[in-house]
Amino acid sequence: MSALLLDGTKIAAEIKTEVGAEAKALINAGVRPGLAAVLVGNDPASEVYVRSKVRACEALGFFSEHIVRPDTLTTADVLALVEELNARDDVDGILVQLPLPKAVDARTVLLSIDPQKDVDGLHPVSVGNLSSNHPTLVACTPAGVMEILRRSNIPVAGKEAVVVGRSDIVGKPMAMLLTNANATVTVCHSKTRDLPAVCRRADIVIAAIGSAAMITPEFIQPGATVIDVGINRVSDPGLARSIIGGDGKREAEFSKKGYILVGDVHPKVAEVAGAMTPVPGGVGPLTIAMLMSNTLKAARMRRGSRLVARQN
Ligand code: NDP
Repeated sequence: MSALLLDGTKIAAEIKTEVGAEAKALINAGVRPGLAAVLVGNDPASEVYVRSKVRACEALGFFSEHIVRPDTLTTADVLALVEELNARDDVDGILVQLPLPKAVDARTVLLSIDPQKDVDGLHPVSVGNLSSNHPTLVACTPAGVMEILRRSNIPVAGKEAVVVGRSDIVGKPMAMLLTNANATVTVCHSKTRDLPAVCRRADIVIAAIGSAAMITPEFIQPGATVIDVGINRVSDPGLARSIIGGDGKREAEFSKKGYILVGDVHPKVAEVAGAMTPVPGGVGPLTIAMLMSNTLKAARMRRGSRLVARQN
């Protein structure tokens, strides 16, 4: 058996087209969705992420502002910047790229973002709304996983779902979304006993661990859907061979770059699973698409009612 590959790049492109069309209608009515992306310091990976988010905004006709500040900023400096963005009417979404420099208290900064502009969905107000199944801005990566399931016609209601990982960014909101969609959800973590046996119960396995190819075929019930959130950079040749050995294209990529990006799920899982997401090209592209979707939603929630009032 060879699993159906769930093409995240294609699904993300569909979402961006839909968001772009809705944004156009909103812009024509006088509201241009806007995202402010704040980068403190010069972490190269963060620079790449923020630039790609800003570029995605521009492609969809959103207003976007890329704010870069030195890593000498204090917590008070970052709070002052967020306050300014909270007060601006042209900014619908505020994204403070993590990690922040050590001297800055990330939790205090997160709490200072106006929940109406919390497009990362990490503010306790957003988390609370999600937990009580009220409309809200939801963390982008787990929201993207739900879109993959929905748009691939994979049923969730009544199914056994196992989420491996309990981070605030992925695992916990993922579990809440699946619960709200009527799955029976088990959340696993590093202290879970006999993880393979727990995973084998699942119709849907979501891996959000950060451990290269840890989920092997023994973890998977034949026919299950496997969603791989993990992104791991592997530069050890032996480890790389044990994961991508036999895949000529990926081996060539490893030889050229000296490293390869792999998920938390071993590619051999495709021999047992019914459907699975690849890495790269699975969940990754959804994260930015959902950020765009959240920015549009935030603009509509905050400024849409004023628009209706003006039209009346
Ligand atoms: P965290 O490190 O915050 O959380 C990892 C979770 O995995 C923890 O809950 C941890 O358990 C659990 N875990 C670690 N080792 C094991 C183990 N051996 N058995 C069972 N559980 C284990 O990671 P994130 O949630 O932020 O990210 C997870 C992965 O997803 C990473 O590879 C990351 O790069 C990727 N990611 C991808 C995104 C995308 O756009 N595709 C976006 C965000 C993340 P415990 O709580 O007990 O420590």
